[in-house]
Amino acid sequence: MANQTTEIAWATSTCNPFKGCSKVSPECANCYMTGWAYRHQCMGNEGYEGTVKGERGKRVPTGKIGIVEKQIESLKTIKTERLFVNSMSDTFHENVDDLKVSRVFDSMKANGNGTNFLICTKRSARMAEMSQTLDVPDNIWMGTTCGCQSSLHRLDDLRRTKAKIRFVSVEPLLEPLDITPWLADGTLKWVIVGGESGKGWRKMEKEWAEAILRQCQQFNVPFFLKQWSAFKPKSDAEYPPTIDGQVWHQYPQIKE
Ligand code: SF4
Repeated sequence: MANQTTEIAWATSTCNPFKGCSKVSPECANCYMTGWAYRHQCMGNEGYEGTVKGERGKRVPTGKIGIVEKQIESLKTIKTERLFVNSMSDTFHENVDDLKVSRVFDSMKANGNGTNFLICTKRSARMAEMSQTLDVPDNIWMGTTCGCQSSLHRLDDLRRTKAKIRFVSVEPLLEPLDITPWLADGTLKWVIVGGESGKGWRKMEKEWAEAILRQCQQFNVPFFLKQWSAFKPKSDAEYPPTIDGQVWHQYPQIKE
């Protein structure tokens, strides 16, 4: 197992060629990226200028995407087990042109170090469309976020996405969800569930997470339970969280 260099438990590291984003759906309400991007912007770090603005004491992502070429290049050589690409942005954001997205994929493709790349987007329609022409090797896992019923349509986009490993990040889980249609037809090869953290966190009932575990068990799909909802989940008595007395850190089957 590679050293864990990110707080995101289901990845082993992150890399951010793109910086900045804008909110698209209820899951984004308390996005962690905004606060971090604001701090980087204040420190003058490359790519963050103009990505967040303050409005009456509130910070809002502007939709400006900073692109850092040397980090696109770095994807060619990074060696880690599971690299979450663009955790501080959205790879398929509408303000990034196709050419830059393609360059990210070209760099990942050129990596010969056994790294698995995890792309997770809320712009799933664009991912589905671009995946038809992008070359997506088996070590690039393509996913979307779906934490509420109004986002379930993204799983239909995922179904159209050309990738061997397709996954859903059910984070933050905001209400009960039935994802069985996409488990039953083989769209989903991995399911991550997590509750919200930080300021303004919204409660995830444990039964909602357990119900998704049962759905995954029914179709033998790996399940990863990241955290219960709390201001600081890692301070919880139960971290990592369990269901049936077990920590659920399952991963996709990479080989047939
Ligand atoms: S899409 Fe992701 S990074 Fe962008 S605002 Fe929403 S939660 Fe934040």
